[in-house]
Parts: sequence; structure tokens; C-alpha cells
Amino acid sequence: MNKNKTASAAPHMLPALPYADSALAPVISANTIGFHYGKHHKGYVDNLNKLAAGTKFAELTLEEIITATAGKADDAAIFNNAAQAWNHAFYWRSLMPKGGGEPPAALKLKIDAAFGNLDGCKKELAAAATTQFGSGWAWLALDGGKLKVVKTGNADSPLTKGMKPLLTIDVWEHAYYLDYQNRRADYVSAVLEKLINWEFAAANLG
Ligand code: MN
Repeated sequence: MNKNKTASAAPHMLPALPYADSALAPVISANTIGFHYGKHHKGYVDNLNKLAAGTKFAELTLEEIITATAGKADDAAIFNNAAQAWNHAFYWRSLMPKGGGEPPAALKLKIDAAFGNLDGCKKELAAAATTQFGSGWAWLALDGGKLKVVKTGNADSPLTKGMKPLLTIDVWEHAYYLDYQNRRADYVSAVLEKLINWEFAAANLG
């Protein structure tokens, strides 16, 4: 089953980081990556495997589990861990050393159409990331062919709203507290200017 999917069913693996743990410094330190990837992300994957083992979810891909459990109170634990496993894998790929700069042309056209220009897009992303109350995520997503900036709380993602995520910024405190303490806006601004991976977002336009 799931022949056309790259994602596989349980046991779910912690995907390799797409760069060295020190590659995003000084914007995000190796210390932060060590905890964030090695403890938090790994914890979600490990918990998901424990929760899915021997259940009707054991044969499903991450995306299938997320879709099947979204909004169901009885499945909150497996949803949270599956969605966080997906969100973190997506977050690492949304960043790159020497990121920022100009998006590829196909994405730039859509950004200009939706936000006026790249600056408008970055402002909306920064606003979503800094105003998300408590833990969550800021996203650039495709909603019926149009680009949209959305924010989600805790483990939620645009996948549960029928949108296609293009990139994300983690705004849980564990993403920035070791490097920026309470200065979430400084973390977000540095990520947008120096790390955001527009090539990844453009590839997700698919
Ligand atoms: Mn995180």
C-alpha cells in the first residue's frame, strides 16, 4: 500500500537533519538544534511509534494518521505526536544555511500576487509568528491555488484545513529560548532574513 508516497508507515523514523547541527549558527545554535532535533523531534517520533503500535494506525503514513485523527478528542495524543513529527521534519527543510534572499521566479510571482511583494510576505509571516499566542507554528501555505500566511496552535497544521504547506517557522519556545530567551520577534526576523529556504517552498508548489 501507499506505493505513491515517499513517507512510510510505522515504525516512523527520525529523518536525518538536512545539514550539520552547527550549520544554522549563529541564527540557531548547535545547542538549540541538539535539544530541538535530538530530544523534542525524536521524542515525538518515539511517542508516535509507541502510540501507533498494534492499533489501526500502525499501517498508516504520517499524513494519513494526521488526517484521520485531526479534531478527534479520543485521538488527541496520537494526533499531537504525528503532527509534531511531520511539522518538525518540514521545519528543518524550511531552513537552510545561507537562506533568505530572493525566491525562485515561479514562487515570486505568486508572492507578488498575494502580498504585493516579498517584503509584504515576510511581514505577514513575521506577524503570524509573533502573534501566535503560546506554542505553535507560522506557515506559508497554498489554499486553492492562492498563497496564504496562517498560524496554528500547538501541533496543528494547514494539512488539517485542506491547505498545502510550503514552509513553516516553529514558534514553540524550545525553538528559540536558548538563543533568544523571550525575544521571539528577533528569532523570527533572523530566520526570515538568513535561513528561510525559498527553494524548498517553491518545490512544494509542485
Ligand atoms: Mn519544535
